[in-house]
Formats: sequence, C-alpha cells, structure tokens
Amino acid sequence: MSSCNRQDREIRPSRERSHLRVIRYLVQWSVVLTVISGGMGLHRFLESLEAAREPLFEKPLSVEGFMPIGALMALKLWIAEGIFDPVHPAALVIFICALVLSLLLKKGFCGWICPVGTVSELTYKAGRRVFGRNFSLPRYVDYPLRSVKYVLMAFFLYIIVLKMSPQSIRAFLFTPYWMVADLKLLVFFTEMSAVTLAVLAVLFISSLLVRNFWCRYLCPYGALLGLLSLMSPVKVTRYPPRCIHCHRCTKNCPAMLPVEDRERLYSPECTGCLTCISRCPAEGALDLALPGRRWISPLVHILLVITIFWGGITVAKATGHWKSGVGLEDYKKIVPHLRELEHP
Ligand code: SF4
Ligand code: SF4
Repeated sequence: MSSCNRQDREIRPSRERSHLRVIRYLVQWSVVLTVISGGMGLHRFLESLEAAREPLFEKPLSVEGFMPIGALMALKLWIAEGIFDPVHPAALVIFICALVLSLLLKKGFCGWICPVGTVSELTYKAGRRVFGRNFSLPRYVDYPLRSVKYVLMAFFLYIIVLKMSPQSIRAFLFTPYWMVADLKLLVFFTEMSAVTLAVLAVLFISSLLVRNFWCRYLCPYGALLGLLSLMSPVKVTRYPPRCIHCHRCTKNCPAMLPVEDRERLYSPECTGCLTCISRCPAEGALDLALPGRRWISPLVHILLVITIFWGGITVAKATGHWKSGVGLEDYKKIVPHLRELEHP
C-alpha cells in the first residue's frame, strides 16, 4: 500500500496493465473448470448409485456453491444455535467466504470467482462479436429492471431471516430433500423441462445482447453481496490531476459504471474486477484505494481475494467443516426417490 503523493510524479501515459486481466481470466476459468469437473463427478456419483454400484470416489463438493439459499438458512442456524450445517457444510463455507470478500474487497466473489459471472461475461463478449456491439436498455427500463434482483433478495431475506425460526430451519436442513439438494440441482439441469429450457434460452439471448444481463438485473445473491460491498473500505479511486479523460475506464466497465465521472466509486454494482484499472493508460490516474487515498496495489488486491476465498476453504477442510456428514447408506436410501422428492 502507498499513501497519496502522486502529485509529485510526472504525468506520463503508461501501457495498459493487461496482466491484471490475464490473471483474472486464469482465476475465473480455473473455477469454471473446477465446477464443470465437479458437475461431471457428481453425475458419475449419481449414475453409480442409480445402477446400485458403490461409487468409486467421494462426492465432489464444488457445486455446493450453487446453493446460496440453503446456505443462508444454515448461516442463520449457525448464528442462532451454533450448529454448523453437517449436511452441506461446503455450501455454508463458500457462502461465508463470499460475504467476507464483499465486506472487505468489493464484490470480489462476483468479479473473480462466480462461474455464472464468468460465463455471463463470455456470452456478452460473444454477442458483441456477432452483433458488432452490446445494447443498453433505455433508462426507464434499466432502472426498474435493476430493482428486480433487490426485490428477490428482500423476499429471501424476509422469508429466511425474519420468518423462519431456527427450529424450522433445523427441521428443513435434516430432511432427505436438503440431503440430496445438490443431486436435485444436477437433475434439474441434466433433465431439463421445456419451461426450464425456454427460460435458459431467453436468458442466453438477453445475455448475448446486454452486458451481464443476469448479474445486472436478476441475481439476488449478487444484490446481497453488492449491498454488503458498500461497507468495503476498498474502492476504485480516480486521481483527477493524472486523468487524461480517455473514457477507457467507463467504456470497458462490465457493470457500465461511470468511472471517469467519479473520484471514488461507491456502487453496489462494482465487482472489483479491475478491468477499468487494467485499461487505464495514464499512470497513477486510477487504482484501488482505502479512505484517504491510501493506494492499494491491484496485485495485493488479487492476492487478498484468492487468500480469503481459498484460505477459507482450506481452513474449513482442516477443521472438519467441509465434508458432508451424509453417508453412502443415506444416499442409497434416498436416491431411488430423488425425482419424486418435493421441497418440504
Ligand atoms: S468500476 Fe472497475 S472494478 Fe468496478 S466493475 Fe467497473 S471495471 Fe470492474
Ligand atoms: S481514469 Fe479513466 S478516463 Fe481517466 S485516464 Fe484512466 S481510463 Fe482514462
């Protein structure tokens, strides 16, 4: 970290810091590959059980990051009764890491880890190639649509945090349904109904046309992380005397934020992805900073994101808070009824 003494330095254009984008792609795509391999492993695990064979490997847990609603329930139970969900502890660990990242380092989970965000970015970039541009919705559509994710978030918070008692959460977390929630999620995608397929097709087309359509308008998880990220002491900060007003930061921001018009960016939409910083050609004009323009090297930021997320998982593994307590015998009993199981 360095303090504010940038005015002493000569203003000179520097090359883009493209290495920041390369590191980001590597982090993002290693998560995507982990999740794909986890999904394939889970599929093989289910196949073995359905064929009444002993699975030859442990159930992969990386896909548990896709169960944030159950993880929110588990978090409430942990806080209220000190019970750390033994059924899907990995889901809770990933959720806690995402919350901590948001509190400290903007929406680091969305910008660096979430595979849906990565695929969403790939989709709008593909759309830009196909159509020559991405499209922006007019303000009178964009603003109300952006509130949808907050409405969904408020709904889940109301139901889980305010309405559900710890007893009813405990009852839910020990149902057969929650025990195989990851397998149900897998089946939801591998045996899609026509409605699911149609919804995904609409989302895909919307994501081709509009940058980050899902994240910007619909994701309640991102909405929660975005609101928490307002408390993050780290913000994208512009140093006006060094800015040459080239518009590159604003033009390239995946969240379409007006970076060039702000000195310090307070926005629940900023994911801390560093794209704006990596694109800025003026040395010392745009960086991350703590209050009082105490600058933070982007590489330190990246290292912290990685350390907090994978460090949290490593600690969870070392302390026995990662592996599910559901045994093979439980799966053998529940899996034959997997498709009939309804949400309790
Ligand atoms: S302002 Fe910068 S760090 Fe924030 S989302 Fe936009 S490009 Fe990423
Ligand atoms: S802060 Fe934005 S507008 Fe200013 S020089 Fe950097 S990229 Fe260009």
